[in-house]
Amino acid sequence: MSKNTQTLYQHGTLALLVPGLLAGTQTIGELMHHGDTGIGTLTGLDGELIMRAGQVYQVNADGHVRIVGPEEQVPFANVHYQDDRAVGKITDQNFAGIKATILQVMGTSNVFYAVRLVGEFDQVQTRAVRGTQQPPFGTLAETAKAQSVFNATDIAGTLSGYYSPAIYGGATSPGFHLHFLDDEPTFGGHVLDAKVRRATLYLQEFTDLQLHLPTGNEQFRQEQFNTDEVLRDINQAEN
Ligand SMILES: [Zn+2]
Repeated sequence: MSKNTQTLYQHGTLALLVPGLLAGTQTIGELMHHGDTGIGTLTGLDGELIMRAGQVYQVNADGHVRIVGPEEQVPFANVHYQDDRAVGKITDQNFAGIKATILQVMGTSNVFYAVRLVGEFDQVQTRAVRGTQQPPFGTLAETAKAQSVFNATDIAGTLSGYYSPAIYGGATSPGFHLHFLDDEPTFGGHVLDAKVRRATLYLQEFTDLQLHLPTGNEQFRQEQFNTDEVLRDINQAEN
């Protein structure tokens, strides 16, 4: 069976994290039936996940990188089957410049893309959330306060993740959502800032977004979402 490279698969919504629906509702094993590449977080917002070549890595709040097992669970994650194309090099750009360049190459802000920037970076700043692994879980804003920030200089690695049109914010993380993992891998996390020295940009455009909801979770079924609060808190926690 050929792999579906046109679909971006997402388990959960970013919105459900806002009121603290942080229970894991899909195993890594199930998730990885829908792709070999992606990003996400574990139960309780524990750390930052990077999936590449079918392997799942977690960067935790102590800054350690470890391999995640198939039985561990996610409240929210995105995966796809990698089939991206090298579209050019980016040299000597800060984070704003990187994002502006990618948008320019995409030529649209209305389509979902997987983004991969592979090469050398002068500087990368990441964060990893210290999640609560057992309920009761806090809200996204409360939980995201317990985060560690890490800095690396002169590092080779991959910045990877997604671009989602702002209009789908709430369901998805609007704009760029990028994680980093170095070549070792011993350093990574959710990217707060980066300065690229020289790297190759790979893009993959999706025609489809598959949104998989945790319909078996009673707390999710009963939650009364406040749309304004959701969008405000997402912008604070993710940008
Ligand atoms: Zn992230």
